[in-house]
Amino acid sequence: MALATFAAAVGKLRYLDRRGAVAHESPCHYWFASYSSLYRAFLGFFGRERYRLGCEVCAQEEREDGVRIRLADGTEESADLLVWADGIRSTGRGWIAPGASFRYAGYLAWRGAVGAGDISSSTFAWFQESVTYFLLQPGHALAYPIVQADDARGPGGRINWVWYWNVEAAHLDAFMTDRQGVRQPVSVPPGTVREDLIRQLRERARLDLPPQLAEVVIGTARPFLQLIGDVEVGRMASKRACLIGDAAFVARPHIAAGTAKAAEDAWQLSRSLVQCGGDVEAALQLWEPAQRELGTRVVARSREAGGQMQMEGTWPVGAPLPYGLYNPGDSEFRGRWECEAGEERGT
Ligand SMILES: Cc1cc2nc3c(=O)[nH]c(=O)nc-3n(C[C@H](O)[C@H](O)[C@H](O)COP(=O)(O)OP(=O)(O)OC[C@H]3O[C@@H](n4cnc5c(N)ncnc54)[C@H](O)[C@@H]3O)c2cc1C
Repeated sequence: MALATFAAAVGKLRYLDRRGAVAHESPCHYWFASYSSLYRAFLGFFGRERYRLGCEVCAQEEREDGVRIRLADGTEESADLLVWADGIRSTGRGWIAPGASFRYAGYLAWRGAVGAGDISSSTFAWFQESVTYFLLQPGHALAYPIVQADDARGPGGRINWVWYWNVEAAHLDAFMTDRQGVRQPVSVPPGTVREDLIRQLRERARLDLPPQLAEVVIGTARPFLQLIGDVEVGRMASKRACLIGDAAFVARPHIAAGTAKAAEDAWQLSRSLVQCGGDVEAALQLWEPAQRELGTRVVARSREAGGQMQMEGTWPVGAPLPYGLYNPGDSEFRGRWECEAGEERGT
């Protein structure tokens, strides 16, 4: 499978001014994928026979020789090692790092995607091959092309956008309460955001955004909401269980490193297991310190970038993007990448 089947190449970084003129343009080398297309591609590589959908893990019990895992349907499983990769609202975190909690950053993200038929063809074409930023005082918005694997309009190219709004914690209930009157904890999914909020979003887009970005936001049928914040854990592993990715550290999206961090946690865990000859306890002890340090650094760098872009308004127009896992720029990719199940080729 070639990278271009599930990700879109981006070769330009653009900053817009309020009238929609390009205030800055420079080269960059990123690939953008939607969550669903990346998920599907990786599920294909891994193989469905080893991946059980619809199984919620609720509890762990560590023993000398292994770990017992309880599922929501009441069944139990045993394993040598339990890896909790269960995301921002991790159940595993409650078992391994029970004191850790989500700290709201003071802003939320409006998000959405449009297809070719949702906006004018010239605007759709304009957003191809570039990641586009607009800095407000305060706040910022960005848009970039993705390849969408599945939605009602079928597979194809989309323009994905994110617009961050500062909202005081005391006013969050109004945003996070969905059409059914249910207060959602961290996100209000597409199709469930209240109509009065969507009207407010479109009105503000008309007033505050450059025309291209306003068209994309207004053309989105089902925008959705995501709270932005941090999670940091003091512990990623117990004897035979560990937390990886967002289950351990949740960083704000500004350095675009959450997925790479999850992959790196998993990759380094597999290396430690090999290095320790399959001794799970020794491997977890070897693995944990560096991944905890990485998670702490990623959260700190994202918080700093978010502070400058969103809260303080000090991010300069034209500044290179802070994207990267260990350092800004380390996630740029200029080569070719192809993968078949069980085989990988990258240059
Ligand atoms: C606005 C925004 C923009 C972002 N942009 C980027 C970006 O550009 N680049 C980037 O790298 N990252 C980005 N991220 C972050 C990225 O989405 C996450 O860091 C990444 O998805 C974390 O992967 P994960 O595998 O740890 O968790 P997740 O992707 O959240 O996966 C967790 C999985 O566990 C399952 N699960 C949950 N609970 C259980 C349970 N009890 N039992 C079994 N399964 C369970 C869930 O169904 C889900 O499939 C962004 C995030 C936001 C909010």
